[in-house]
Amino acid sequence: METTQAAVTELMTEMGHEQVVFVADAPSGLRAVIAVHSTALGPSLGGIRFWRYASEREALVDALRLSEAMSLKAAAAGLHQGGGKAVVLCDDPDAPRGEPLLRAMGRAIDELGGRYIAAEDVGATPRDMQIIASETPWVTGIEGHGGSGDPSPVTAYGVVCAMQAVLEELDGDPSLVGKRVVVDGVGHVGSHLARLLADAGARVAVADVNADRVDTLVREVGADALAVEAALEEPCDVLAPCALGAALSESTIPRLQCRAVCGAANNQLADAAADHALAARGILYAPDFVVNAGGIINLAEEFVGYDRDKALKRTAQIGETVCRVFALARESGGPPGHAAEEMARRRIAEEGGGRRWVPGDPAAWTNGAPLRTLRPA
Ligand code: NAD
Repeated sequence: METTQAAVTELMTEMGHEQVVFVADAPSGLRAVIAVHSTALGPSLGGIRFWRYASEREALVDALRLSEAMSLKAAAAGLHQGGGKAVVLCDDPDAPRGEPLLRAMGRAIDELGGRYIAAEDVGATPRDMQIIASETPWVTGIEGHGGSGDPSPVTAYGVVCAMQAVLEELDGDPSLVGKRVVVDGVGHVGSHLARLLADAGARVAVADVNADRVDTLVREVGADALAVEAALEEPCDVLAPCALGAALSESTIPRLQCRAVCGAANNQLADAAADHALAARGILYAPDFVVNAGGIINLAEEFVGYDRDKALKRTAQIGETVCRVFALARESGGPPGHAAEEMARRRIAEEGGGRRWVPGDPAAWTNGAPLRTLRPA
């Protein structure tokens, strides 16, 4: 076996994880890892990723890293949720998955009694989530039945609120009118973002490896089309990375011609040095996990009975959180990414006080309300 038990618990200790569940179901071929990073602020919430991993070790490390990031995201967003993530090892993540495998995954989630609450992530389809949800109520983001559905419009709205905070910090004025914004990646979130920015009077430029998505926005909102290789180097007020992670690295940061970075993509910084490198270049970085929290805020609203308007109101607070992060960074003299992480860790430690969310606890809480079953079982 590649990963020894000692190595797993060592990693968990180092990163602060409460629980990791390895799941195998021989008849269906399911192999999965569910990582619960923290339930100090409430039940852990995070997506299920279906992915082809080179090894079980790689899958485990991905689950550990992603679940920790979810704890920070939920804490920074002021939610009473913890961070969790599940990864399912697949030979071909794009191939349709059998119902027995998905049902087995649903049962594994159900056994945790709400300590891990699932949502859609890379590779998961709405059909996958529906089948998983037929075995457990601990699934969010399902269409209908009180579920909130696709979170990307709300995520995009949160990015706009964050961008207004960025402009307030730069110019003392949050208005997007006449501001040049480059949206790099116009999939689910990026396309909504481009439309919202155009509506707000920004001059929008878009890039994507998928030319059809770019053409649609050129037609619909008069966006300028950029070549993918040129997007990062385009002079603009704000660069909004909305494709894959690690766009900001030792090699790309020297070439940027933006005043600020504020986008939806997860893990935009290739490493901690990138946070410092952006600050050294005088580029204001709005930390990704603060900016893109609209999705998780939207999901968390399901616990108190989903209401789109309330979800949007709560998402608008991302703007205030971004301002707070900039103020903390100024006070500490460090870069904003570091300040945001410190802010989130402090809340988990101080407000969470080392608690663990336990299934069936009459004092069980989430977002200020008793945790209820999301949908009728
Ligand atoms: P998506 O897959 O719908 O969109 C990603 C887009 O990026 C696609 O159109 C793809 O063609 C494009 N792309 C891929 N490589 C590219 C490259 N090198 N250059 C330019 N474009 C490229 O994904 P999404 O749901 O829109 O999410 C975008 C990002 O935001 C991801 O990093 C995701 O983790 C993060 N995020 C999404 C949500 C949400 O609500 N969907 C919430 C939080 C964070």
